[in-house]
Amino acid sequence: MDYLAGLNPQQRAAVENTQGPAMIVAGAGSGKTRVITYRVAHLIEKGVDAFNILVLTFTNKASKDMRERISKVVGTEAKNLWMGTFHSVFAKILRVEAEKIGYPSNFTIYDTDDSKSLIRAILREMQLDDKLYNANFVYNRISSAKNNLVSHVEYINSAEIQAEDVSNKRPMLGAIYETYTKRCFKAGAMDFDDLLFKTNVLLKNNPDVLNKYQQKFKYLMVDEYQDTNFSQYTIVKKLAAAYQNICVVGDDAQSIYGFRGANIQNILNFEKDYPDLKVYKLEQNYRSTQNIVEVANSIIANNKNQLEKNVFSDNESGDRIKVSRAFTDNEEGKIVAESIMQDRTSNGLSYSDFAILYRTNAQSRAMEEALRKLNVPYKIYGGLSFYQRKEIKDLIAYFRLTFNPSDEEAIKRVINYPRRGLGDTTVDKIIVAADQHDITMWEVICDPQKYIAGRIANQLNDFSMLIKSFAAESKKLDAYETALYIAQHSGILKELHIDESVEGRSRYENIQELLNGIKEFAEREDIEDRSLAIFMQDIALLTNDDRADEKDKETVSLMTIHSAKGLEFKNVYVVGLEENLFPSQMSLNSRTDLEEERRLFYVAITRAEKKLTLTYATSRYRWGTLTNCEPSRFISEINAKYLELEVVKAPKTSIDSDSFDGERRSWSQQRDSFSKPKPAGQSSGSTIANRPKPTVLPTAHIPTPGFTPDAAASFQNGMEVEHEKFGFGKIVNLEGNLPDVKATVFFQGLGNKQLLLKFAKLRIV
Ligand code: ATP
Ligand code: MG
Repeated sequence: MDYLAGLNPQQRAAVENTQGPAMIVAGAGSGKTRVITYRVAHLIEKGVDAFNILVLTFTNKASKDMRERISKVVGTEAKNLWMGTFHSVFAKILRVEAEKIGYPSNFTIYDTDDSKSLIRAILREMQLDDKLYNANFVYNRISSAKNNLVSHVEYINSAEIQAEDVSNKRPMLGAIYETYTKRCFKAGAMDFDDLLFKTNVLLKNNPDVLNKYQQKFKYLMVDEYQDTNFSQYTIVKKLAAAYQNICVVGDDAQSIYGFRGANIQNILNFEKDYPDLKVYKLEQNYRSTQNIVEVANSIIANNKNQLEKNVFSDNESGDRIKVSRAFTDNEEGKIVAESIMQDRTSNGLSYSDFAILYRTNAQSRAMEEALRKLNVPYKIYGGLSFYQRKEIKDLIAYFRLTFNPSDEEAIKRVINYPRRGLGDTTVDKIIVAADQHDITMWEVICDPQKYIAGRIANQLNDFSMLIKSFAAESKKLDAYETALYIAQHSGILKELHIDESVEGRSRYENIQELLNGIKEFAEREDIEDRSLAIFMQDIALLTNDDRADEKDKETVSLMTIHSAKGLEFKNVYVVGLEENLFPSQMSLNSRTDLEEERRLFYVAITRAEKKLTLTYATSRYRWGTLTNCEPSRFISEINAKYLELEVVKAPKTSIDSDSFDGERRSWSQQRDSFSKPKPAGQSSGSTIANRPKPTVLPTAHIPTPGFTPDAAASFQNGMEVEHEKFGFGKIVNLEGNLPDVKATVFFQGLGNKQLLLKFAKLRIV
């Protein structure tokens, strides 16, 4: 039982009290994930059957790590746990129960690209303006409806939603949603949001199914609960209703998926839903130095909306937080790369002790270049996933068709790849015929003579025979042999083999890598069903983050802050701390968004165990233009006593023209006062309430009152803007290159106006 010795009294109480509803809302690094891990181990040690435990995590990687830890305590029993992300767990359940909601069990999972491509097709068919009804916008709208459990019928019948869409001049959204739903259904496909939405439908309409899973999952645990959306919340609530053995852990200060519908209200509701709720408080941070913990506390205290929490660290006070300024993003990369090299040698660290975190994927480029120059091994997490690469998606589309030939997005993807004379005109004909006869594209393809005129019947017959032969082979061969057969006979391998360019070769290697992965899967002994169909289910929900951890442990990790959730590293660099980048431009419109951005900063800071470095550049290329940047307000929010400033070159004199808090000190004064070798903050147990008011760097950005037009480079689609004459509007399209970018802006009551940004004097609101 010595795993219990690794817990403090509060953690231990939460681990040992296994019956009834429990909630832990506590700050970063306080051992929430550790509590869940040990609680599961404890349940199994106490004799609970692992098959009866469900643990929901935010990433597949998190569940893999957790399972490994648990197996150290309980051994192979850990294999029987139901553990994974919401999407992966409920996709698995839907496979079993699909027929109850009218879906085939071999349904396809549409990824975001598939969904958007389908939306674009629907917009074309409905002859809607794809600028007004931008595919991303429509996708998000449908996604958010589903995450709030609003079906297309409810959407159309809601007077409120209709009024909103009409006032936004997009009255057809409901109709698009309806068609989209029907088309997915016809194709035997579910999109990501459907995996949760349809689970809700399944559990709501089938009391026997609900009862079955309530009995199965007698114990439920959810990590990162603050980032669940309404749809996830409802599933958990339903499943836990019979036994109420539900334990959730989270930190409201780390809620960073509001933009995707995550709802902090789910934490607050929890207390209402379970009057017998036991609440546990964890206050000690075991991860980070005192300085890092106190900086994090002081940052988050700037948010108005938060639950009161006390977080302290008993670790050493540690180094001060280093702030480095560079002139360009390339120089910023250089500073970080050199610092990693130096730190590694002087402190005997390994590359894997370092992480570079950024706000947007695009920032990785400058970092990568600098690391490569110094031969520092690195690995990028997130970004374009392996499975998102074109060649991989092409081959997978053939796999998809093998198991579900109704999958229309897969048909469209490969019907003419490699080329076989079935171009866009043919595809359009097939779609029209399918629509007219209310059948699937596949049915048209299987009987072309009956449905379409023209001389393409032979090619279509060949195509359908090809797919049918794949299906037949898959019944005889194992996963790897099937995959190889399809790669060869589809013509994809040959097509890539003859392309001798560097890119062509790398695409060929990627296909080889996919095949290797399938071979490994086919040889696994810990699972019964090793068919290609099962492999497909697994990968549909994988992201790059889930693959990357397997190899090259000795690398610096590069990732967005969103992907860094729950992780920890000895030394962390948070880069690009500039206004309009972090906080991002999109967040500057409302307090809610800005606070989410600040929580993101809190997440970034609290990943660091020993050393934290913040960097910013005073200029950076954005959208092809060299843009001047101001340091992020977030730096200014940190109490100066925790900071150590490092200015790489002579500071620009203009930098002290703005100040926060009415405090006016010059950059050099400020720098001198920071670099005095005084000991960093010694206090432990600094609470949000008693923390000193932060003094502020003289570089913060203050929004200027009155009308000041913004620089052309800052505008983005969807942004709300103000025009001196036309008033408030929303950018619906941007075209052309700087400095001649033309914006289409929708103004209330005036409709769309085309404006040349360099003359238009628009202000972002
Ligand atoms: P986050 O909010 O970032 O997800 P968390 O609250 O889930 O953090 P953990 O990741 O569980 O925190 O724990 C942070 C670190 O502290 C881990 O390295 C963990 O092993 C360690 N830790 C937690 N509790 C203890 C303890 N009682 N004794 C020693 N180390 C601990
Ligand atoms: Mg955690």
